[in-house]
Amino acid sequence: MAKYKLEYLWLDGYTPVANLRSKTQIKEFASFPKLEELPVWGFDGSSTQQAEGKSSDCKLHPVAVYPDTTRKNGVLVMCEVYMPDDKTPHPSNTRATIADDPGAWFGFEQEYFFYQDGRPLGFPESGYPAPQGPYYTGVGYSNVGDIARQIVEEHLDLCLDAGINHEGINAEVAKGQWEFQIFGKGSKKAADDVWVARYIMMRLCEKYGVDINWHCKPLGATDWNGSGMHTNFSTEYLRTTGGETYFKALMAAFDKYKNEHIAVYGPDNHMRLTGLHETQSIDKFNYGLSDRGASVRLPVNFIKDGYKGYLEDRRPNSQGDPYAIASRILKTIATVPTS
Ligand code: ADP
Ligand code: MN
Ligand code: MN
Ligand code: MN
Repeated sequence: MAKYKLEYLWLDGYTPVANLRSKTQIKEFASFPKLEELPVWGFDGSSTQQAEGKSSDCKLHPVAVYPDTTRKNGVLVMCEVYMPDDKTPHPSNTRATIADDPGAWFGFEQEYFFYQDGRPLGFPESGYPAPQGPYYTGVGYSNVGDIARQIVEEHLDLCLDAGINHEGINAEVAKGQWEFQIFGKGSKKAADDVWVARYIMMRLCEKYGVDINWHCKPLGATDWNGSGMHTNFSTEYLRTTGGETYFKALMAAFDKYKNEHIAVYGPDNHMRLTGLHETQSIDKFNYGLSDRGASVRLPVNFIKDGYKGYLEDRRPNSQGDPYAIASRILKTIATVPTS
């Protein structure tokens, strides 16, 4: 038997954006614990905007388990929050009610800024660095600084150790801005992995004295890019059958439900979806082949392949809840007959 450090992770009750919370408990297991071996746990919901002080208990139900190589016998345990009856999902628990489909694949491109002393990492104390241009996929100290690459590399290794389908990294358009990509099959699995990857990143940055700013437009109405979480998606049908008629019907449904999509695509998105900086305006819906100014971009081979493959919804932002985003996409897809 060995003592494992179980770090239970959950989303708190803050709005419009939930925060990640976590705490550790030690339990003995013969080998690395399986999900079904992990006990239900609880926490003080009155400290997380999830309960009143006089009836403060909330329950943590493990839903996914990841090796944590930052600690000896470390385990990350993603949880859903339940009411004290252990039956009713807490109102903050979006995961409990989302649409899922194991045949639906999602690739989230998580953009974010490293922040230090209230400004993007590498920005001077006052004013701005040289304008955007050389930073995207850039190399060299003057473009990416001295610690960002170390952080993203460590993050990549920790995610791979955890079994997360981390698919890649790139320096982004603004100075101090980066992206990582997470791919998963099924909305719950893909979104769990995004939340855990966010957690790993925030915790890793502690020792560097750096924070992550997840806001979609931290530099406001300036000539600096905002942060998105482009959501690439495909269903079994879209990958194997597709076709122009189906595709056009699907896009008509996306147009019809555009407001419902925007409602769950992250707060303050009007600041980011301006029609500038590789975005479409928040009140418009369109699609385009290789078009990074469209709401939905068709990858370069999509039409050539017979309107088959995956699509990139460019509207979700960096602070969006991947559970809600993936679920909304599946709900709209479900309105379109596949015949
Ligand atoms: P770009 O920056 O050019 O928009 P990225 O390479 O950053 O593209 O991201 C592309 C994403 O598309 C990756 O996260 C990848 O996992 C995802 N992806 C690729 N194929 C599929 C697919 N069939 N279904 C869903 N997502 C996919
Ligand atoms: Mn990308
Ligand atoms: Mn990007
Ligand atoms: Mn993209």
